[in-house]
Amino acid sequence: MRMLLIGAPGAGKGTQAELIATRFGITHISSGDLLRTHVNEGTAIGRQAKEYLARGDLVPDAVVMDMLRKPTVAATASGGYVLDGFPRTVDQAKAAYETARGLGVAVEVAVYLEVRPAELTRRLLARGRGQDDTPDVIEHRLEVFEAKTRPMLDYYQEREELITVNGARPVNEVAWSITVQLQQLARRSQRAGA
Ligand code: AMP
Repeated sequence: MRMLLIGAPGAGKGTQAELIATRFGITHISSGDLLRTHVNEGTAIGRQAKEYLARGDLVPDAVVMDMLRKPTVAATASGGYVLDGFPRTVDQAKAAYETARGLGVAVEVAVYLEVRPAELTRRLLARGRGQDDTPDVIEHRLEVFEAKTRPMLDYYQEREELITVNGARPVNEVAWSITVQLQQLARRSQRAGA
C-alpha cells in the first residue's frame, strides 16, 4: 500500500504514520524527520535546508524530491510506504505524481488529519521540539499550511481517494477511524474492480 498523510503541523501525522506503518507492515517516511537528520548531521542536503527549517518555510522542491526518491522506491519494493509531510504543495504533488508514475510508485490513497488551528497551536507549544516550535515560527508554519498545503486537498479530492479524519480525538480513536476508512475504501475498490 502506498499512502500519504496530510495535515497541518501538530495534527499528529508522525504519530499516526508510525501506527499505520506498524499495522500494515509498510515503511514510514517523514520528510521533516529526514530533513532534521540531514541538518543535524551537516550533510549537503542539511546545509541547503537548515535556514528554511529554522524559519518554518518550505525547503525548495528539488532538495526534498532528491532526498525522497531513494527511500520511496526502496519502500515500494518492500511492501509500500506511508509518506508524512510530503507532498506539501500542489506543485510537489504534481511533480511527485509524474516521477512516481514512471517508477510505478504513485500514491494510492491520501489521508487528511483535520484539526482546528487553536488545538494545533496548543499541541505545538506543548511539544517544543526545537527551533521551529517557537511561537513565531509556529504561527508562520500554520500560515504556510493554509496558503500552500490546503489547496493540495482539492488536488487529491479530484484525482485520488482522499479520506478525511477528525484528528482532534485521542490517538487510538484517530488510528481506528483511519483503519476503518481504509478498509471501506479497499472494499469499494474491490467491488469496482470485480
Ligand atoms: P514537519 O516535521 O513535517 O512539520 O516538517 C518540518 C519542516 O521541514 C517544515 O517546516 C519545512 O521547513 C520542512 N519540510 C518538511 N517537508 C517538506 C516538504 N515536503 N517540502 C518542503 N519543506 C518541507
